[in-house]
Amino acid sequence: MIIPKASKLDSKQIKEIEKIVSEFDCNILEIQGHNQCVYAILGDETHALMFKRIAGLSYIRKVDAIESPYKLMDRRSALSDHQVQVGISTVGKDSPFIIGGPCTIDPKEPSLYIDTAHALKEAGVNALRGGVWKPRTNPYSYQGDNKAIEIIIQAREETGLPIDVEVMDSEQLTIAMEAKVDILQVGTRNALNYSLLKEIGKLSAGTGSGVLLKRGRHVASPNEFIAAAEYLVAEGNPNVMLCPRGTTPALDGYRNHPDESVTPLLKNRTWAPVVVDPSHSVGHAEYVLACSLSAIAYGADGLCIESHIDPARGIGDDPKQAIIPERMKELISSCREIWAHRYQVKD
Ligand code: PEP
Ligand code: MN
Repeated sequence: MIIPKASKLDSKQIKEIEKIVSEFDCNILEIQGHNQCVYAILGDETHALMFKRIAGLSYIRKVDAIESPYKLMDRRSALSDHQVQVGISTVGKDSPFIIGGPCTIDPKEPSLYIDTAHALKEAGVNALRGGVWKPRTNPYSYQGDNKAIEIIIQAREETGLPIDVEVMDSEQLTIAMEAKVDILQVGTRNALNYSLLKEIGKLSAGTGSGVLLKRGRHVASPNEFIAAAEYLVAEGNPNVMLCPRGTTPALDGYRNHPDESVTPLLKNRTWAPVVVDPSHSVGHAEYVLACSLSAIAYGADGLCIESHIDPARGIGDDPKQAIIPERMKELISSCREIWAHRYQVKD
């Protein structure tokens, strides 16, 4: 990774470096951090001579050779002070960043989604979620509908809140990018789909959109999860949020095995914000508050929570795990208390 002395390289400097790396069959890619651009070396970057020549240029601060499978995500990387901005929020800055909304948008009942969005804005969420396309275990369950994108766009226009939508393939990604979706969600089933991760990283690079990467149910180690996020950053989008959402169930009664306790491990190893999803972790509306409080106590920067004005009328996971906006408001207030305490303790 190449780190310039200034916040970015000018075009003449880029050309000069491109010329050097091309002699070693490599290329460079600009990654735009909040304060600092860094330049990833693509190709076999182990050539000591190439490193030396670049490091010797007067405008280069250093050429970083962090030995890590996730050198850009690494806490020690030059992106370590990168901040993820979503709409008017800097994730993890002053208070927990809360994404809320139904699991699934029902295209036949747009007013249920729009009314939920307004109620959630009132409750204090920072962004809206809503499934347009759904990864369903049962192939005969509702799979989503392109029409739902219009409904979530309308909710964004009416509330002014940024939106989070899961994408599972190129076609959905194209539609979501055209709609300027603020947060592209990669679900648990695609957490290790490296082709999709690369495509998302590449197409969303420089657009300002965030990516919420869920921890796959089968992603064993924190490092495997961080390396998946590295694919997004290495293709040019550093606006990554890591989202633990429960792993393979071991506790009979919970939908998944709650894993909010992985938060400090992720935060120690990377600079990326952690946004925990308590809804899919526990799978029952009644346990969502406890899991949320626990996540914030563990150091999470935010939460992604399923919420619906009338869960019984929702589809997908909503009847079981969505909380009503009134509960969301109480939850946000309790999480803020823990957040404030957390910072008091730290100081
Ligand atoms: C969802 O957010 O509704 C969802 C399908 O999540 P996950 O990928 O975590 O199962
Ligand atoms: Mn869901």
